Amino acid sequence: MRLGGNARYLAYANSEEDVENLVAWAKSKKLPFMAIGSGSNIVWRDEGFDGLIIVNNLKGRVVLSEDDKNATVKISAGEVWDEAVAKTVENGWSGIEFLSLIPGTAGAAPVQNIGAYGAELSNTLQEVEVFDTHSRAFGVVKNEDCGFAYRTSHFKTDEKGRFIITAIVLKLKKNSPEPPFYDVLAKYFEEHGITEYTPKTVREAVIAIRSSKLPNPAVVANNGSFFTNPIIEQAQFDELKQKFPEIRAWPRDDGKVKVAAGWLVEQAGFKGVHDQETGMATWEKQALVLVNEHAKTTANLLAFRQKIIDKVNEMFGIKLEQEPELLP
Ligand code: NAP
Repeated sequence: MRLGGNARYLAYANSEEDVENLVAWAKSKKLPFMAIGSGSNIVWRDEGFDGLIIVNNLKGRVVLSEDDKNATVKISAGEVWDEAVAKTVENGWSGIEFLSLIPGTAGAAPVQNIGAYGAELSNTLQEVEVFDTHSRAFGVVKNEDCGFAYRTSHFKTDEKGRFIITAIVLKLKKNSPEPPFYDVLAKYFEEHGITEYTPKTVREAVIAIRSSKLPNPAVVANNGSFFTNPIIEQAQFDELKQKFPEIRAWPRDDGKVKVAAGWLVEQAGFKGVHDQETGMATWEKQALVLVNEHAKTTANLLAFRQKIIDKVNEMFGIKLEQEPELLP
């Protein structure tokens, strides 16, 4: 978002040894510290951070094992996520092609269990390699111990700040993805006469769809989707459906209903809005994306965010929750 205050110290960790040493240094100075990837999903508060930011810059991609059916790969945390996706797709391996073009680093991916078009990281992730800042030891957290759920994990909730992720290990498949696909993908395949579903054709479709709808963060300051899709009770959904028959929502396995946050924001009148008071806007083609046009402070952003939350709550009785992390 290109907003927020300064950090007192910032250092790049280029090796596991750096991670260990930087944590030891911060602890010896009694300074708070936090590790980040590329910062694409962070909103920094105006106050800044009176401590040490460790930029996770661990690089490397290796194939740990391979047979007829699977390939197991280790991707270091500082690798650019989409470059890692591109490489697995190039090899014809399936599992993360639906997650193409998601900004950020590989190490950030498990934190919110990134997902797109029905796939999520937890489907392919085997384990996460970590530095435990409590015990100051390197270790491994298995998939089943990561607390994965819809766009969340222990790394984002109860264990927040404890582990510095150093690498992720993924088990990819050598067979191709199979339908049914999300409507938007199915439509793309149909419109482009694509009948062969491979990691490559899926990646190309996802890139085309995302690029046509979403602003490039390198050009336009944004954090991608700004609110998570709210999950509501069936009874509340039934009431809303009566009032808003065209509501965009999907049933979940647990009996609850997932409502498209973008639809709510759009209905609340916030699609393509340019708010002069705060300098913030919503993206013309996707109301869920907040854009910094000429905001000077994070307070401006938060004021605009509040306008949206309040209006959606007033109209639908749903309290939207911010998806990017607000730090510190
Ligand atoms: P979209 O295509 O405008 O669709 C809006 C929402 O509807 C999506 O969030 C998606 O939920 C849901 N949806 C659409 N078709 C569905 C189906 N057949 N079954 C169930 N749910 C369906 O979404 P968008 O905002 O452009 O995002 C495209 C994809 O990128 C989405 O899957 C979105 O989740 C993903 N994305 C992920 C992150 C992240 O990991 N933090 C951030 C931004 C976008 P789901 O979100 O459950 O897929």
